[in-house]
Amino acid sequence: QGSLVCVGTGMMVGAHLSPICQSHIEQADVVFVCVAEHYMEAWITSLNKNTVNLQTFYGEGKDRHDTYAQMTSAMLERVEKGEKVVGAFYGHPGVFAKVPHDAIAIAKSRGFDAYMLPGISAESCLYADLGIDPGALGCQHYEANQFLLYKREVDTAAYLVLWQVGVAGDFSSAVFTSSSLQRKKLTDKLLSIYQANDSAILYEAATLPIDEFRATTIAIGELHNHEINQHSTLVIPPVSKPVIDDVDYSKGTN
Ligand code: SAH
Repeated sequence: QGSLVCVGTGMMVGAHLSPICQSHIEQADVVFVCVAEHYMEAWITSLNKNTVNLQTFYGEGKDRHDTYAQMTSAMLERVEKGEKVVGAFYGHPGVFAKVPHDAIAIAKSRGFDAYMLPGISAESCLYADLGIDPGALGCQHYEANQFLLYKREVDTAAYLVLWQVGVAGDFSSAVFTSSSLQRKKLTDKLLSIYQANDSAILYEAATLPIDEFRATTIAIGELHNHEINQHSTLVIPPVSKPVIDDVDYSKGTN
């Protein structure tokens, strides 16, 4: 009976993989690897020689949605063959990642055993490196292009975290990074909520033990003029104080 387990490798090579995720990788019939870092791929391959690199499905000018569908099918095909399939995704396999969620849902609907195991995501690293507790003032997370597309109620008394800012403003889903002009759309939208000189942090977690994380403080009005990479995440600290609710919920029955 085939099965599918999607595991997270964490962000840092040789440092973040949990024992349970490692054990699944080692015991799989085949491991589909989708990681950003070459050393991470090499490391996973050292744990199980039977690996398939999912990154090869990506292509400049190719719609990412086609890529995701092909990745999903490739994994399901092997599950259907009765194999013990593991998908190893960098960070947390369920955080801003479509393929693991889709593949697990389809495998389940076809009667296979399928589930996800968490990993250390960029979000986990961000809280540690920047010293932010999401519970202290609250924290909203959005994908940058969704943030542009939809009306959102941004709570400026909480943290705002925008993911995939490196492709912000490009709606073709076919490039690896967007242009400064395209990213200006994000600057403009943020300026409808924040002041031009309010601070934001461009954050990049370290992916090798010898690296340091990047935390570049910028003015929101200048966002599109800065170096933004595929692996950059934007963090905007609170600029206002939380407002007391009109209803006093602290009173009454205890
Ligand atoms: N599943 C991954 C996220 C994949 S989506 C995780 O759990 O972290 C890709 C986005 O994740 C990037 O656009 C960026 O916003 C964020 N990201 C990936 N690598 C990162 C890194 N090294 N530092 C900070 N953010 C990163």
